[in-house]
Amino acid sequence: MNIHEYQAKNILKSYGVAIQEGVVVDNIAHIETAVKRLQADTGTDWVVVKAQIHAGGRGKGGGVKLAKNLDEAKQRVQDILGMQLITPQTGPEGKKVNKVLIAQDVYYPGENEPKEFYMSVLLDRSKQQNVIIYTTEGGMDIEEVAEKTPELIHKEWIDPAVGLQGFQARKIAFNLGLSGRAMKQMVKFVLSLYKAYDDTDSSMFEINPVLKTSDDKIIAVDAKVNLDDNALYRHHDLMELRDISEEDPTEVVAKEHDLNYVKLDGNVGCMVNGAGLAMATMDIIKLSGGEPANFLDVGGGANAQTVEAGFKIILKDPNVRAILINIFGGIVRCDRVANGVVEAYKNIGQINVPIIVRLQGTNAEEAKEIIDNSGLQVQSAILLKEAAELVKVAVA
Ligand code: GDP
Ligand code: MN
Repeated sequence: MNIHEYQAKNILKSYGVAIQEGVVVDNIAHIETAVKRLQADTGTDWVVVKAQIHAGGRGKGGGVKLAKNLDEAKQRVQDILGMQLITPQTGPEGKKVNKVLIAQDVYYPGENEPKEFYMSVLLDRSKQQNVIIYTTEGGMDIEEVAEKTPELIHKEWIDPAVGLQGFQARKIAFNLGLSGRAMKQMVKFVLSLYKAYDDTDSSMFEINPVLKTSDDKIIAVDAKVNLDDNALYRHHDLMELRDISEEDPTEVVAKEHDLNYVKLDGNVGCMVNGAGLAMATMDIIKLSGGEPANFLDVGGGANAQTVEAGFKIILKDPNVRAILINIFGGIVRCDRVANGVVEAYKNIGQINVPIIVRLQGTNAEEAKEIIDNSGLQVQSAILLKEAAELVKVAVA
């Protein structure tokens, strides 16, 4: 689950990570109080207005703007709030901005130049360890740094059983070229950041930029957090941070029915149990001359309701010219799924594309009989080869 920058910063702050402070607003009525509070805290009139959407690259798309005083801040909020923000990560249609964060301007002049670093914590599956990835080249595209100057990107692996050690945090601060007060602050920053990541069962914390201010403070200016869905049941407080308006509506419906759904661009919809079989089914569709319109794993407990929900989701896609249902009856019996398909089909009513059902495994023969005798326009197959032939005819 993704969360907003301001929510991520609240988590960081609660773990003692220094952040660029701010106030989130969803309408212009509250701007004045927010700006005045920030101005009083920092002693400068400058603030920065930041669009809150679940996508990065907001700066490039015009979603992060500086303002030199209250009037300009009001103008900026008015400009950004409600806009359709297009960034390199939103796709061409962009995302509507429902909230903005008004934040301290932390790039104030002083003894030293402010300096931007990059730091993220995530899971390295191949090493079965957490990893802190960091570089002095922060602020800009990390992908570009990785491509052009990979030698500037450092990695520090952490054994999850032992946890992040003090010497590792000091090594990171050292590799970032820090000393004195900034070094101490960075060590604290890294240790607290890692604890936040670990305690919340996150799959990623990405801070870009981590800023060394002109007076050598180390603070998180941005924060992108991905919480592990599979661990959310342990974190009811974090579950409440979900913002459904940021998610793809079809995927929200799929989630409600425990369906694993990913929309694709093809013309053959498919409904399968198990991710491996789903991928094999997509291959079969391709080999038959079609293109998969989606990935859909209905999971192990497919019943009439899940099948119906899956049908409805697939049928929303105007590109779909045929639907292939490919279920292996292991724990779930094929005759139950067949009854589910027939029931769902009747409930939905008119379906104008051919439906090919391949049920294999426990009670496959009975299932074929149920479908063949249902009187519905459903074609049944037992062998994958037969199903593939039917798909070929359907998309020809
Ligand atoms: P992103 O574009 O979605 O990654 O949003 P960020 O929060 O990282 O902001 C984008 C850029 O805006 C940062 O890399 C900074 O260079 C700049 N920025 C953010 N906060 C401030 C600020 O307080 N003062 C100034 N001068 N620039 C800022
Ligand atoms: Mn950023």
